[in-house]
Amino acid sequence: MAELGSPVRAVVGEKTAKELSSRLGVHTVEDLLRHYPRRYYERGELTDLAGLRPGELVTVQATVASAKGRQIRPKLHKLDVVVTDGRTQFVLTFFNKWFLEKTLSPGTEALFAGKVELFNRKMTLTNPEVYVGEDAETFAGGLLPVYPATTKLASWAVAKSVATVLALADDVPDPLPEPVRERRRLLPLQDALRLVHRPETREDVRRAQERLRFDEAFLLQVVLARRRAEAALLPATARVPSAAGLLAAFDERLPFTLTDGQQAVAAEIAADLARSHPMQRLLQGEVGSGKTVVALRAMLAVVDTGGQAALLAPTEVLAQQHHRSITALLGPLAERGLLGGSDLGTRVALLTGSQGTAARRRALLDIVSGDAGIVIGTHALIQDTVDFLDLGLVVVDEQHRFGVEQRDALRAKAAVPPHVLVMTATPIPRTVAMTIFGDLDVSTLTELPAGRSPLTTHVVPVGEKPHFLDRAWERVREEVAAGHQAYVVTPRIGESLEEEREEPVHGLRLVPDLVEEPALRPAVAVLDIAPSLVEGPLAGLRVEVLHGRLPPDTKDDVMRRFAAGEVDVLVATTVIEVGVDVANATAMVVLDAERFGISQLHQLRGRVGRGSAPGLCLLVTEAEEGSPSRERLEAVASTVDGFELSRIDLESRREGDVLGASQSGRRSSLRLLSVLRDVTVIESARDEATALVATDPHLFANAVLRRAVDALLEDERSVYLEKA
Ligand code: ADP
Ligand code: MG
Repeated sequence: MAELGSPVRAVVGEKTAKELSSRLGVHTVEDLLRHYPRRYYERGELTDLAGLRPGELVTVQATVASAKGRQIRPKLHKLDVVVTDGRTQFVLTFFNKWFLEKTLSPGTEALFAGKVELFNRKMTLTNPEVYVGEDAETFAGGLLPVYPATTKLASWAVAKSVATVLALADDVPDPLPEPVRERRRLLPLQDALRLVHRPETREDVRRAQERLRFDEAFLLQVVLARRRAEAALLPATARVPSAAGLLAAFDERLPFTLTDGQQAVAAEIAADLARSHPMQRLLQGEVGSGKTVVALRAMLAVVDTGGQAALLAPTEVLAQQHHRSITALLGPLAERGLLGGSDLGTRVALLTGSQGTAARRRALLDIVSGDAGIVIGTHALIQDTVDFLDLGLVVVDEQHRFGVEQRDALRAKAAVPPHVLVMTATPIPRTVAMTIFGDLDVSTLTELPAGRSPLTTHVVPVGEKPHFLDRAWERVREEVAAGHQAYVVTPRIGESLEEEREEPVHGLRLVPDLVEEPALRPAVAVLDIAPSLVEGPLAGLRVEVLHGRLPPDTKDDVMRRFAAGEVDVLVATTVIEVGVDVANATAMVVLDAERFGISQLHQLRGRVGRGSAPGLCLLVTEAEEGSPSRERLEAVASTVDGFELSRIDLESRREGDVLGASQSGRRSSLRLLSVLRDVTVIESARDEATALVATDPHLFANAVLRRAVDALLEDERSVYLEKA
């Protein structure tokens, strides 16, 4: 007798078992029980053939009159099946389902479910779901489940496999504590499992899914609640800056006053740092809202008390820029040990992967000796060779590019757990934040510093109006003539078509960058467009290129000269996407803009209009009016609200992409739960999980839940190890 842990081949045939496990991730009997239908067809929709209307979703019961298959092209097989209900004949068409020809032999009775289409003025169903013989009988009383299936294993075959194990639903242990189940008025797990596969009514489906969805949210939230609870128990060094210390001296020389939002967040952070448990905070802030200075103040508070702070940046360009701008903001306070440097001061070290040996050795020495109070770097900081004297604070910029594991790796470099502040300018909806960063407290900066000039974004549809492109270059010339600077951004670097993506991403992104859509031509590349701009529309201007394949020194040099105003136009890839801050840059032209994602465009345009002059962003595209690509661009042009755009962006993605590769352990545990839509489920699951973990942090009282949590963590770890 099969048990929950038995391999599926104990209950189904060899071929089916192989297909289930290799294509559908169903390895065990329990996996099979957890393989839920995608949707259901209703018995009420069982229609007779004479009454069909185009566009209707129908389930028809009919007998096969004939089935004829043929190979149309090498990879295209067409099967025409004529069915009859005794009065009317009807043709069904199947593509690449050659195996059905045998199943649907003349005389076979079956159920066919799908959408009625009009083809050559005849009505037909294309690739309908098929339920044959006894299987059709089984479902005649209720709803017809449609399972995730493969070309070799149809939904009805999956249903048949599930039927063989349905009785075992009673053996599935319930991880949800009984009081929680009652409070939330949820079905017992065993009932939910039975009903999700064999519902009689829509209400059955709703109740079953409600229960199973809650379980998914609950499990995740228990993991996160435990992570929070564990962190809260860790010791950390409280960091309270002295009244006449480095932070105070910095505040005195700050050329602007902090916004109300910055002050509020600064107070939250100061309170966290003053506790003897590690801070775990996420700072979300609109592009240009001034996160860096907030983070810098936290770092100075730590330096004030004799500790060190590390700032982890996702790209070399950004690390270099942080190093430049933080050094500049600190002025003499960053020159400890130098003539004219302040006694209160410290040193700022930079550590990146491709630094020269001498520079690297010097940086490593400054870090280990504690001379550098502030250490800025890329993922190179995470390496084994980097030793801190007293790491008190880790700041992670643009968190969406780093996984939890990288955060942890850096954290492990401190003798006592350091405080952690992660920052992101890709605002994420609250429920997504609760799922992905659920172990962090969240602060949000919504306002921009006063005096920030407005940013206007236009779509430039060169498909319909080619001459608009000339006008775009003219606008760039006008900005430069007015003493400003501009960016031209392209999706590719150029030279080799292999190299489509910018900057090896250190870590994993929350959402993929480029929008994958079949394209007719390769995207515009920096190295191709720059020379033609110099010879053509931008002749006479000082144009330079910047991309990820340039040597680090060159990158740094180009950015430095651009920041100093020695370059008029920077033709770049997305290396400038995050954090690059040159106030005099007022215009940006994005070429092939439809190849970028919404959030990415929002980040990119955040580079302009950072000073007192208004910013202009032109999204050049050949995407046609009304196409999804064009609509994405119009959305970007219509608002500067990053939260709104992030919502639009996430909604247009599939659920799996929302969580991204870095969350794949979590992703695979989510079958029914939508981190975007199921707001109330996630919230109530979080409340219950937090309460449970508070009374029983080790889950001693619930071995079933403990095992489920361990399994999820094991999944996440193995995904991480595969990447490492
Ligand atoms: P982001 O949140 O996108 O990382 P930055 O920290 O780069 O934003 O800040 C953008 C710019 O605004 C920087 O040049 C910074 O010096 C400036 N800035 C920060 N806070 C203020 C403020 N309160 N008033 C004026 N300018 C500010
Ligand atoms: Mg920033």
